[in-house]
Amino acid sequence: MSPRIRVPALAALLCTLAAAPAFAAVDFTVNVDAREVARGLLHVTQSFPGRSGTVSLSYPRWIPGEHGPTGPTVDVSGLVVRAGGKVVPWRRDLVDMQTIRVDVPSGAKSVEVAFDFLLDNGTEGFTSAACATPNLLLLSWNEVAFYPTGGKSDALRCEASLTLPDHWQHGTALESGPASGATIKFRSCTFTTLVDSPVLCGRYFKTVELAPGDSVPVRMRMACDSEEGLNIPDSQVEAMRSLVREARGLFGTQHFHHYDFLITLSEHTAHFGLEHHQSSDDRGRERWWLDDDLRRSHSNLLSHEYVHSWNGKFRRPVGLATGDFHTPMQGDLLWVYEGLTQYLGFVLAARSGIRTPDEARDALASVAADMEAHRGRGWRPLVDTGTEAQLLYGARNSWEYARRSTDFYDEGLLLWLDADVLIRTLSKGQKSLDDFCKRFHGGPNHGPEVKPYTLNDVIAALQATWPYDWAGFLRQRVYTVQAHAPTNGITAGGWRIAWKDSLGPIQKAREVANKTVEEGYTLGIRVDDKEAKILDVVPHSPADDAGVAPDMKLVGVNGRKYSSDVLRDAIAASPRSGRVELLCENKEFYKTYVLDYRDGSRHPALARDNGVRDHVSEILAPHAK
Ligand SMILES: [Zn+2]
Repeated sequence: MSPRIRVPALAALLCTLAAAPAFAAVDFTVNVDAREVARGLLHVTQSFPGRSGTVSLSYPRWIPGEHGPTGPTVDVSGLVVRAGGKVVPWRRDLVDMQTIRVDVPSGAKSVEVAFDFLLDNGTEGFTSAACATPNLLLLSWNEVAFYPTGGKSDALRCEASLTLPDHWQHGTALESGPASGATIKFRSCTFTTLVDSPVLCGRYFKTVELAPGDSVPVRMRMACDSEEGLNIPDSQVEAMRSLVREARGLFGTQHFHHYDFLITLSEHTAHFGLEHHQSSDDRGRERWWLDDDLRRSHSNLLSHEYVHSWNGKFRRPVGLATGDFHTPMQGDLLWVYEGLTQYLGFVLAARSGIRTPDEARDALASVAADMEAHRGRGWRPLVDTGTEAQLLYGARNSWEYARRSTDFYDEGLLLWLDADVLIRTLSKGQKSLDDFCKRFHGGPNHGPEVKPYTLNDVIAALQATWPYDWAGFLRQRVYTVQAHAPTNGITAGGWRIAWKDSLGPIQKAREVANKTVEEGYTLGIRVDDKEAKILDVVPHSPADDAGVAPDMKLVGVNGRKYSSDVLRDAIAASPRSGRVELLCENKEFYKTYVLDYRDGSRHPALARDNGVRDHVSEILAPHAK
C-alpha cells in the first residue's frame, strides 16, 4: 500500500465557499482565449459558485518542479470580479500577495473573474519566462487560474477550455471533451491534474508515436516557429523509442496512463525543461533536430524530464509534496529529486543512443571537472544548495564557482554514480542502482499518484539493495563540507580524469549553443563570447590570484583584441610564454592583469584505467531487449 496524497473532498474549501450550491458539478471553471497570443495576451474568464459573504481566491504561488514561489502574480492585469451580474470591488491581502477577497451580495449564484495574463518575453524564470511566439504557445495553467483559498488541489475539480488561433493544433496530457469550433473543452479534472498538464499548441505542429502498439501511449508533440524545424531525423526517433523501452526496463513499471513530450522549438522562448506526471514541458532551440551541436547541447533534457515521471512526480520528498500551491516547499532532498534524476537521465541518454558512448563520457568528464572547480563546497555542504534552491535558481551567474549554485543536479549525478559503482563493486556485479530504482520507484501502474519519502526511506531502500553504511556515505557527501567533488564513481568505475588539448563533442556543442568559452581549468575563467565578458572566476586559479573578477569586459589578450581564438592561442602558447595577459574593462576603467600560467590547453576527458573493472561502460551500455 502506498500512502497517496488524498484530502477529503471540499474539506478545506468549506471555509471560503461554505454554501457552494449543489448545482456545481465542478468547483470552478477556467476559460482561456489565446487568439491574441501574438501580442503576448491571454484573456481569461473563470466562474466560481456564489454565496453571500466574503469569498477569497488565490493565485498559485509555489510551482511544482520549479521548487520555489515563482507564480508570476505581477503579470495578472485587468482583473474584474462580478457577482450577481454586478462588478464587485476586490482587495488584495496585505501580506499574501497572491490572495484577493471580494464581498459577494446575497443571492449571487456565481462569482465571475476576468483578467488578462501578460506573457513575458524574457528568458529567465522557467514557466513564467517567454513561452509564446506568433506561431506557438506553451500554456501553463497555473498562470491563468485563481482557486479557492485554502483548497487542496487534489480535492478541487475544475473544467477548462482553450480557444486557439485559426488552424492551430495542440497536444496535452489532458483528456479532451467535444470540440466546439476553435475552442477545445477539456474533461473535468482535479486542479492538481490541470496545473500538471500544460498545453502545447501552434501553427507548425507534429506528433511522433514513441511506443507504437503499446497499451500505454508515449508521444512527442512538437510545435516550432518553422515547418523545417519539425524534421526530426529517423535516427533520433529511434533513440527516443529506445529511451521509452530503456526507462521501462530500468524502473520495471510506469506510473502514467499515457505520456506526452511537449517540445517547443523556438529561438524566442526560454530554454529549459519542466517535469509533469504524464507530460513534460521541453523548450529548445528552433533547429534542435537539424543542427548537431544544438542537438548535443540538448541531449540530456528529454531523458531527464522523462525520468522525473518516476523520480519527482511519483516518488517525491515530503517537503515538496505540499498538496496545494501555497504551502512553502522544502528542498533539502533535491539531491535525490533532481540529483538522482540527473544521473538516471545521463544513464538513459547513453543506453538509448541519444548520446554515443563517447559523448556520454565527455559529458561525465565535463561534469566532474566543472564540479571540482566549484570551490564553494568547502563552506557550503551539498544539502544547502537544495535547501536554498528557491533563491539559488534566480541568483546571478557571477561568483558561482565560489558561492555554489543549484549544484544538486551535477554533483548529484556524481554522487549517484558513486553509489551505483559502490553497489556493483560490493556485490561483485550482482546488484546495481537499477535494483534500487525497481524497489524505490516500482509498484503497479495506477496512473499518476504521489508516494512521498523521507531521507530514512532513501537510506532504507539503499540498504535493502545492498547492505552498507549508507547513512555514513550520505552524511559525508551530502551533509558535510568537502574539499573535492565526489568522483569516486569514475575512478572506481574504471576511468580517470585526463586532459586533452581539444574540446570533446558535448563541450564543443555547449560552447557553440551557449556562446561561452570554458577556460575554468586553465586560467580559471568562463567567458561570455558574445559580450566578451568574464562570467566567472574559479577561486585560487591564476585569474583569481591576479585579481580578475566576474563581469569585467575582456578587451584584449596578450596585446591583441579579444576573440575566443586569440584567447585559446595565448593559452596554447603559455608553456613558452609562461604567462597570459588579460586587458579588462571594469566599469570604464582599464587594467592589464598578468596571469601566471604555463600549462597550455586543458580540456577534461576520461581515460581508461585498465586495472579496474569498467563499471562505467557497463552502466551506459544498452540494457533493454
Ligand atoms: Zn529536473
